[in-house]
Amino acid sequence: MNRVYNFSAGPSMLPQAVLERAAAEMLDCNGTGQSVMEMSHRSKAFEPIIANTEALLRELMQIPANYKVLFLQGGASLQFAMIPLNLKKKGKAAYIDTGVWSGKAIKEAKKWLAVDTVASSKDKNYTYVPKVQKVEGEYDFVHVTSNNTIFGTKMNQFPETGGIPLVCDASSNILSEPMDVSKFGIIYAGAQKNLAPAGVTVVIIREDLIRGPEHKDGDLPADVPTMLRFDTHAAEGSMYNTPPCYSIYMMGLVLDHIKKTGGLAAVTAANKEKAAVLYDFLDQSAFFRATTAKEDRSIMNIPFVTSITEAEKADAMNKKFVSEAAKAGLVNLAGHRLVGGMRASIYNAMPLDGVKALVAFMKKFEAENA
Ligand code: PMP
Repeated sequence: MNRVYNFSAGPSMLPQAVLERAAAEMLDCNGTGQSVMEMSHRSKAFEPIIANTEALLRELMQIPANYKVLFLQGGASLQFAMIPLNLKKKGKAAYIDTGVWSGKAIKEAKKWLAVDTVASSKDKNYTYVPKVQKVEGEYDFVHVTSNNTIFGTKMNQFPETGGIPLVCDASSNILSEPMDVSKFGIIYAGAQKNLAPAGVTVVIIREDLIRGPEHKDGDLPADVPTMLRFDTHAAEGSMYNTPPCYSIYMMGLVLDHIKKTGGLAAVTAANKEKAAVLYDFLDQSAFFRATTAKEDRSIMNIPFVTSITEAEKADAMNKKFVSEAAKAGLVNLAGHRLVGGMRASIYNAMPLDGVKALVAFMKKFEAENA
């Protein structure tokens, strides 16, 4: 077997121990004589699987009791619509624009709400995160993106919003380090980076934001589709319709693995170490450099470029790098076209050895090409 180090922005690597366990349980999970892929979501066999995934997520993220955990479909992208649809009351929301994904969230929200973009780092091609101490106003919610997958930046300090619910897209850094859930109204994330294979989206939502017929602030408008209402899914324990059973099972295995290997503290320490190994190399290299402001650097997605300034030559060098790296078993290192250069996504499941192998390869490449 020849496994590669996969630096993809997502879907991305899963812990090998998890894949091995899934393989061992493929034909007969927990003595049921079935794969989880074949189980009815209403069966006695599946009930403990979804319950266990939720319990582990609650434990690892220390999710307070007054929050619901929902396992939905449609990706983080569907939340760009569900959140305005479900939270709209006054008709206005504040967004902080820190990159492509915030931009998509803003564009979608504008279908239902007036959007105030209260801060943006567009002026410097999203290489930093604007510092916003406080957001005030007649807003239904304030939306932030905690980690910007394409540009490789992270929000280290969230704005104070008083009584306004703070909503966070944490798709690319959920469970990479501690997050104080109680500060947020909603945290949502597509699972395909740190949590599971693609197919499930986690929504952690404070109960008072789930509006339904009995909600004290009134029902949602009748034309909000049933499947796009948080109360539909909350009332049925994410089982209103068939949930993405296998992805939920896989998330349970990933979370169980994290718990058994030192919990979130160990994950955080490992992520910081991995990121430091790569950034330290980039900061001393005369050939490669990181593209983001130091204080806002992501520890999950690390874009970098070469020192070549002429566009055509730089392009050719990037292509050479990506292709030679792939031959060395380091795959998916091409950067996003909006940033150029390369990007190493080093989510939870990327081992330290993978990052060390990348740095060793970069040293060699630098010596041969600088
Ligand atoms: N938000 C962020 C920060 C992302 O990185 C992504 C996916 N790369 C999305 C949203 C969209 O997620 P999905 O593909 O699950 O809709």
